[in-house]
Amino acid sequence: MSKQVVLFNGVYGVTQEGGSPWLPLSILTIGSFLKHHGYDPVLLDPQVHPDWKDRLAALTAQGPVYLGVTCMTGPSIYNVLEAIGIAKGVDPTTPVVWGGYHATLRYSGIVREGLADAVTRGPGEDAALELARIFEHRRSGDAELADELRTVSNIAYGPGGGGRTGLRLTPSKRMPDVNDLPPCDYTLLDPELYYVESERTLPFITSYGCPYACAYCSEPTNSGRRWRGLAPERLVTEIHNLVRDYRPQIIDFMDPNFSSDPRRVVAFAEEMRKRPVKVGFMACMRARDIVMISKRMPIQNLADIGFERVFIGVESGSDRLLTHLDKAATTQDTFDACQALSDAGIQTWTSFMHDLPTETPEENEETLAMAERLIQLEGNLQSHHFYMPFPDTRLFKDEFSHIDLTLLRQEDWAESSTKGSVLWRGRPEFRNRVVDRLEKMRDERPDVFALTDLPERTSCDEPGSQAVLEPSLSRTYQSLIQEDLAG
Ligand code: SF4
Repeated sequence: MSKQVVLFNGVYGVTQEGGSPWLPLSILTIGSFLKHHGYDPVLLDPQVHPDWKDRLAALTAQGPVYLGVTCMTGPSIYNVLEAIGIAKGVDPTTPVVWGGYHATLRYSGIVREGLADAVTRGPGEDAALELARIFEHRRSGDAELADELRTVSNIAYGPGGGGRTGLRLTPSKRMPDVNDLPPCDYTLLDPELYYVESERTLPFITSYGCPYACAYCSEPTNSGRRWRGLAPERLVTEIHNLVRDYRPQIIDFMDPNFSSDPRRVVAFAEEMRKRPVKVGFMACMRARDIVMISKRMPIQNLADIGFERVFIGVESGSDRLLTHLDKAATTQDTFDACQALSDAGIQTWTSFMHDLPTETPEENEETLAMAERLIQLEGNLQSHHFYMPFPDTRLFKDEFSHIDLTLLRQEDWAESSTKGSVLWRGRPEFRNRVVDRLEKMRDERPDVFALTDLPERTSCDEPGSQAVLEPSLSRTYQSLIQEDLAG
């Protein structure tokens, strides 16, 4: 009996800001968990496996337990759809499990389109294992499959394990405590494949979830606003092991928010000072958290243990908008946090969002003024984006609840990016004015904008958000009508 589980991340091209490939922790964490429980996971990543289609076909021909796929909302969906098509083309009975952020947000559409036998919702370790135990003896399309799937927590499925109607949801189980999970097994996806000449950066996740509720972010839906972080002692032990085994120059903490518990950051710094190791750190932290950390210890302590760069989601320079976005932080927090990090010699990578729903030109001026103010700080880097609506976020529900999402297919979501989406192309004149201002800032300080491209201009001849929606939906209507006629 095969124990092989094929796990595929649909990363579309090299999507990491900065341009180098990034090791997908999504499939590495699930693969590590399955391996710990006796399965034989094989991980496929289009970034480093250019022959992934041939590999996938060959693996499917061997009859794996299932094909697990994952991606974010956006162009990566195309690769996932192609992977499913390849596997089903080789053997239509291959079970398909779709998990991750996009699946958690749009599980209903995936089931309705019959693309997967089961869709996992939220962190997927337990469901991935329970499904492996079922698919060891069941294939896609088995009549008894639905009866067994009902026993798996945190999944969505349809009648017969797939199908376009009759969505079924199983009860949610609490997010796993990362301290109960095995360490990530990097032998499943060699980090050397992801190192680039200029830097050996190893991604690592130290916590799951986030307790905050930012209105544009998919994490609150994914984790239910729960948070669990590795205990500082185990975290430092794992860092020592990674440095010994993979010799990274930088360990990039890929947590949604590394500082969700500021006390843990302080305890981590203390533990690192007791057991130092030569490696740099990068992490995403909330501005308000950094201010709270600074009340418990000097921010210089972070620099002393190796922190080189901190990513901060600034989003807006308007306090009215920050409140509207449920950021639980103020513009003063943003500036104070960046100032403290800069004073400690830590780079700040600040990210801004423009053309947010309800944002006025005056409020956008405040955002640009914040960007100009932060540029003055030593070590500031910036990236700027236009708002992209992620399904099932609070802002999405505010703005797009009048739209019947059952009309949107996964191909429609694949068209979504910060350059525009099927639902929101933004306000072209508003956006182009932002690009004008950013280009001037970049001309004066190209070093600040070295990590990412500026957002693209929008043609004023292109239709605005509502007009974009209509032809796209009419395409979807057309395909549904044709399917119904064919059926
Ligand atoms: S703090 Fe970060 S991860 Fe948490 S909800 Fe806000 S944007 Fe999302």
